[in-house]
Amino acid sequence: MHLSRFPRLHFAHLDTPLEPMKNISKYLGGPNLWIKRDDCTGLAGGGNKTRKLEFLMGDAIAKGADTIITQGATQSNHARQTAAIAAKMEMDCYLILEDRTGSKDPAYNYNGNVMLNQLFNAKLSTCPANTDMNAAMEDLAESLRAKGKNPYIIPGGGSNAIGALGYVNAAIETVRQANQMDLKIDCIVHATGSAGTQAGLVTGLVGTNAQIPVYGIGVRAPKQKQEENVYNLALKTCDHLNISGAVKREDIVANSDYVGGGYGVPTDGMIEAINMFAAKESILLDPVYSGKGAHGLIDLISKGHFKAGENIVFLHTGGAAALHGYRSAFNFADYR
Ligand SMILES: *Cc1c(COP(=O)(O)O)cnc(C)c1O
Repeated sequence: MHLSRFPRLHFAHLDTPLEPMKNISKYLGGPNLWIKRDDCTGLAGGGNKTRKLEFLMGDAIAKGADTIITQGATQSNHARQTAAIAAKMEMDCYLILEDRTGSKDPAYNYNGNVMLNQLFNAKLSTCPANTDMNAAMEDLAESLRAKGKNPYIIPGGGSNAIGALGYVNAAIETVRQANQMDLKIDCIVHATGSAGTQAGLVTGLVGTNAQIPVYGIGVRAPKQKQEENVYNLALKTCDHLNISGAVKREDIVANSDYVGGGYGVPTDGMIEAINMFAAKESILLDPVYSGKGAHGLIDLISKGHFKAGENIVFLHTGGAAALHGYRSAFNFADYR
């Protein structure tokens, strides 16, 4: 696969490390656990959206855009990474933040990613849950065009066939690293939301005939819906790469048993997973995505889904900035 055919900017710190998690592997007594550190992509706290933004911003520049518009939840990591790259590119950035959780916690509404968005001088607006976010972005784009601007709309999570190329690239990178390390990967597990990460990853792995299955842990939609979203985007990504139909429906697996009360709503298992990764590996997960993804991984190991001797890679998609919006979900003792 030849990704240089597509417009791209290079600002991510790549390759991200692929490292063993010896302490957690020993503690859980199951498979050998590895971690692909996409929390270390380098852009203002990093995370998986940085890989997608390399291709999305490349496309925006190729189209002469001077303004970026995107949307996400209040504590969106995608919004924060978009605001960061827009600042560096000296472009205006409009973020429409959807109040998906209804939380009144000031930390959730003003700290974490929200504070970082403000540091990057993004223009923030909010709207209630279940707003038609695509329509809201279109309306904003129209009003900016009327003022002579050339806005570029990035969909939520950067998840379209262009953004997914970032994870086609990650698939190629991970396989190359594993080959160099003589590591036979049996499965890659990660949190899946707007679907671009899993769609790109599966497309890259299928397109290079790596024969490595991907297991998504859903954070919002029910299993069937999540798998359909990922599959539809994978098909579009295949079209974009000229390998139409390469990904099959059975290549897409998502498990939405760890969503709990809803998107961004804390669960006990998520809190336990964040505590375990911090205490045993000094790795910071996040409450919305990677914490729930790791909860799924831990639970599936306890149920024997992944077995001793297998090599399972947890793709760390980032998001730790959101921890600062969620202090109240943790039962910390008062230290004073
Ligand atoms: C966006 C995000 C995800 C999910 O990736 P999608 O491509 O939206 O499915 C996972 N983890 C973190 C930390 C994220 O910000």
